[in-house]
Parts: sequence; structure tokens; C-alpha cells
Amino acid sequence: MSDPSVHVAIIGAGHAGGSVAALLRQYGWKGPITLIGAEPMPPYQRPPLSKAWLNREADATTLALRPAAFYPANAITLRLATHATGIDPENRNVTLASGERLGYDQLILATGARPRRLPIPGHDLAGVLALRGVADADLLQAALTRRSRLAVIGGGYIGLEVAASARALGVAVTVVEREARVLARVASPPLSAFFTRAHAANDVRILCGTGIAAIDGAAGRVFGLRLADGTSLPCDTVLVGVGAAPDDALARAAGLACDDGVLVDLAARTTDPHIHAIGDCTRRPLPLYGRTGRLESVPNAQEQAKQAAADLCGRRPPVPEVPWFWSDQYDIRLQIAGLPFDVDDIVLRGDPAGGKFAAFHLAADGAIQAVEAVNAPAEFMAGRSMIARRTRTTAASLRDMSRSMQELAA
Ligand code: FAD
Repeated sequence: MSDPSVHVAIIGAGHAGGSVAALLRQYGWKGPITLIGAEPMPPYQRPPLSKAWLNREADATTLALRPAAFYPANAITLRLATHATGIDPENRNVTLASGERLGYDQLILATGARPRRLPIPGHDLAGVLALRGVADADLLQAALTRRSRLAVIGGGYIGLEVAASARALGVAVTVVEREARVLARVASPPLSAFFTRAHAANDVRILCGTGIAAIDGAAGRVFGLRLADGTSLPCDTVLVGVGAAPDDALARAAGLACDDGVLVDLAARTTDPHIHAIGDCTRRPLPLYGRTGRLESVPNAQEQAKQAAADLCGRRPPVPEVPWFWSDQYDIRLQIAGLPFDVDDIVLRGDPAGGKFAAFHLAADGAIQAVEAVNAPAEFMAGRSMIARRTRTTAASLRDMSRSMQELAA
């Protein structure tokens, strides 16, 4: 049981920060907890921002991670609309934008990630948007009116989810992707082909292998994209969805080891014994794959929140989970488990044309490294468990639809 005088400060009141504050109390932390967040809202879920929020099917109440009353009821002090500007690890205090210094005994960094910017002419015009928080989503929602024209730069998950939501609102959408296929960095070729067809069927125009020279505007407002080949693409709004960079600036300035993310172990410890780091701002061990990596996902934020809370409360670190992720577009639910490292073969189970299938990524020894499941929850669930147990299988048995996934996983 913890010492009631030991103060934990958490920088970043997002998914990871909000989760770790709640878990600390759940695991018996007795000392004061202060949650410092730059945004004005208590911790909320970001996934609906590219989906239900744009269609006005989600509001601030459904978005909230926990009801507002949870925090005072659990003696968690929220310092919202408050930016932490520095950490003094020697004297163990955090400087806030007001100049105030807040002392801590233990600090948790949960500062998330920031959308990458495109260093091209016109990137700062009005109507050129990124999507990370509610304030961004409100701007985007206001811009997506019927018959407006949206250009999405980047065919990653956020770009494609916004494209799907915008189509439901009657917006004309073009996605411009630099790589030869959408989702090139994060999904297999069969999955990219499936989503390209799904978006084409919903009248989204997708231009792959296409660079952008500039964003054109007049009177400070965007009116089009200028493609690398000189073609002009008229639009009213541009969403830049070209990935996110870990927000590790405070950690680097405080001298913590960072390498494109704050380096942590499986107890979410940094190189400072009084500082943990969790969520999108970290680079973490991936024990199933024998390497480190950055995982930008809600399940990762929750897993690392458990690791930090367990460590601070003197519990054993939780067993590492198989990384997983989901994306919703139209009526398609994609669920991904595992990571496609050292893949020898990609095996399809089911029929992409029927809208329900899974792509299994096999290592040379038959171990499943990852599964991408489209409207196929049984393949996702069984695949995830087979990855965790390092079950070996064969392409033929995975393709055999007469055998259930439970049977294959047994
Ligand atoms: P965040 O939730 O970003 O929280 C970080 C917080 O720290 C922010 O509020 C930030 O303002 C604050 N902060 C940063 N610096 C400071 C400072 N110096 N002082 C004070 N506060 C600070 N994941 C999925 O698994 N499935 C999905 O479908 C999915 N969809 C997504 C859709 C969108 C539009 C976005 C943006 C993300 C989506 N994600 C999804 C990713 C998921 O939301 C993130 O992985 C998760 O939010 C990470 O949690 P975090 O706490 O690390 O970061």
C-alpha cells in the first residue's frame, strides 16, 4: 500500500493520463494525484473524432473517458487548460505556463503525439486542418457541409476514416497519397486493395503515387491543391493526415533518454527513477518481436497505464499484451492484432469481395505474427490468442473455411 504523502503528478490528461490516474486509485494509491492537461476538457477518447463526432453522433458526454464527477470523487486534482513547460528532475518539480512550480515525488509523462506538418507552401492557409483533439474536430465538422469539397492528404487510418465520415455527410472527397497504395506503412497489400475498393464504391477519389507541390489559396484561404505534376485539385478544406510525432520535447529537455519517443521498459520506467512515461509519447519494448517500437493506439495507452500504475503501487508488471488496434470506416470494422515483422507469407482466409476476410501474416516457421481482420471478429480473437501463444500453423489450414477458428486455435 502506498505512502499517503507521496504525490504523483501526471503531465497529459489524455487517454493514457486519464487511465493511469484512475488505475492508481484502483490499485490502492493513497497519495495525492494531480493530472495536468493542456486541453480544457477532462480526459476523453479520440477515436470518435474521425468517426461519430463528425457525423454528430457523439457528444462531449459520450466522448468522456469518465464522468466529470469521477475525479473529485477519487481525489484526483485536475489542472486543465494548463500547459507544463518544463521539468526539473533534480528538484522534482514541473513548471507550468503561468510560472508556477508544482512539486512531485513521482511523475508520469503522458503527453501523446502531435500531427506531423507538411512543409509545403500554403500549409498555414485557413481551411488547412489537422486532426488530433476536439478543437480540431470541431473545425473539421464545421467545414464538412453538404456539397463542400474535401481533399485529404495522406491515405492512413485517420485520413480514410475522415473520408468515410465526410461521404456520409454528402461531401465530395479526394484522397491524395504519396505512396503507391493507401495504408502503405500500416497494412498489407490485400487490405490496401480492399479499402481502395470500398472507398471507390462510396465515390471517394483516391490518387496514389501522387506528390503535392503546394496548397493554393486566395485572401488567406485554401482553394485547391497543386499536385506535383502541375494539376490543380479544387477544394474548400484540406485535411492533413500524414502521421504523428511523439511529444517527447519535455522529456528530452529534462535529459531523459529518447529516440523518436521517450524510451521506457515494460514497467513504463524512463531513465529517471522518479519518472514513468506512457502512451503515444513513448518508444517501448515489443517482447513478442524482440525489438522496440511506437504504438499509437488506445489499447497501448491502456496497457502502459497499467504498467506504470502497477509499478508505482508495488505490484508486478502485467503480462505484455499482443498489440492491437481497430479502425471503423462505413460499415467496415477492421481489427488488427500483432505486428507484421519478419513475415514470410500473407494468407487470406475468407473472401475480400464478400466484405469479410482476414489476412494472416506468417513467419517462416509458421508462427502467426499479425492478423488483419475485416468484419471477422472470430479470426481477430483467435488470431490474437495464437500470436500470444506463438502457435504454429499452415497456410492450408488457415484457408480451410470448413475448420472454425476455435478449432485452429485449440
Ligand atoms: P493523447 O490522448 O493525445 O493525450 C495526450 C494529452 O497530453 C493531450 O491532451 C495533450 O494536450 C496533453 N499534453 C501534451 N503536452 C502537454 C503539456 N506539456 N502540458 C500539458 N498537457 C500536455 N486508436 C485506436 O486504437 N483506434 C482508433 O480507432 C483510433 N482512432 C483515432 C482517431 C483520431 C482522430 C486520433 C487523433 C487518434 C486515434 N487513435 C485510435 C489513437 C489514440 O487515440 C491514441 O493512441 C491515444 O489517444 C493515445 O493516448 P495518449 O494519452 O498517449 O495521448
